[in-house]
Amino acid sequence: MSFRDPPVFRFAPSPNGDLHLGHALSALINHAMARESGGRFLLRFEDIDPERCRPDFEHGIRRDLAWLGIDWDGEPRRQSEHFADYRAALERLRDEGLVYPAFLSRGEIRAAAERSERETGLSYPRDPDGAPLYPGLDRDLPQATRAARITAGEPHVFRLDMTRAVARAGVLGVEETGSGPDGETGRLTVDPAAWGDVVLARKGLPTSYHLAVTLDDAIQGVTHVVRGRDLFAATAVHRLLQALLDLPVPVYHHHALVLGQDGRKLSKSRGDVSIRALREAGASREDLCRRLGLRSAEKGEPEAERGDGEEG
Ligand code: GLU
Repeated sequence: MSFRDPPVFRFAPSPNGDLHLGHALSALINHAMARESGGRFLLRFEDIDPERCRPDFEHGIRRDLAWLGIDWDGEPRRQSEHFADYRAALERLRDEGLVYPAFLSRGEIRAAAERSERETGLSYPRDPDGAPLYPGLDRDLPQATRAARITAGEPHVFRLDMTRAVARAGVLGVEETGSGPDGETGRLTVDPAAWGDVVLARKGLPTSYHLAVTLDDAIQGVTHVVRGRDLFAATAVHRLLQALLDLPVPVYHHHALVLGQDGRKLSKSRGDVSIRALREAGASREDLCRRLGLRSAEKGEPEAERGDGEEG
């Protein structure tokens, strides 16, 4: 990996559960790349979800990172303290006619997809994560109808009008120094349209993951986004937002995931083995690095790109 000067890396967990081995791998790789390049390593708490994020999880993350020997530069950024930044970006996109209020719930979208599959016998289009694309029924509602429904308190999110956004931004590329699930690497063209009209602001919030992560990487001057391969496809949305909001474009590096014994990626919600549990069971940092296949427990260097399917 070649470094711009000075490189800035970040680890950006959501404090909504304990960190697991996959987080440890990501944090260790980021930290090692930052320290070996003389760059900065930032910590960011992605805590936009007030129902699931909790201060005790944030404390737990700090404790886990300290145990892993990971130090960070400056004060961590907490997304919940920066809603004004996200609101301003959202309003800019709304003023440009690229964002609209969308009233269908997730259940209604699923039902529309099932109905369409029943009626046409064709599979309904899905995004790279497998969720049905937004049918776009309220993409072109008259302004007065939108205002009236919002005033009446109807629950809604804000979505990006993907067709318009892609027409505005044109063809976009990124530099990938890791690799995607199919080995994609190097200079790549991204395909944000595969995501359909993505949510840019969740119900009752001025942002979604996509908007907050993209803005924060720019605001924090992140030059290298290093994260698990499960977020490879989402990079297309982030690259599109960078183009629409005139933001700098970092280099991306997606690394292999740590998979559970069942071959699926680890998840907090399934209660997969946490760093805390391993520590409390008496494991050392070296045990954990060995288990992750890291060459040097000191530096947290990856031994080799791990093939998906290896147990973590
Ligand atoms: N907050 C995200 C997560 O915990 C990571 C976002 C990112 O690295 O871009 O999965």
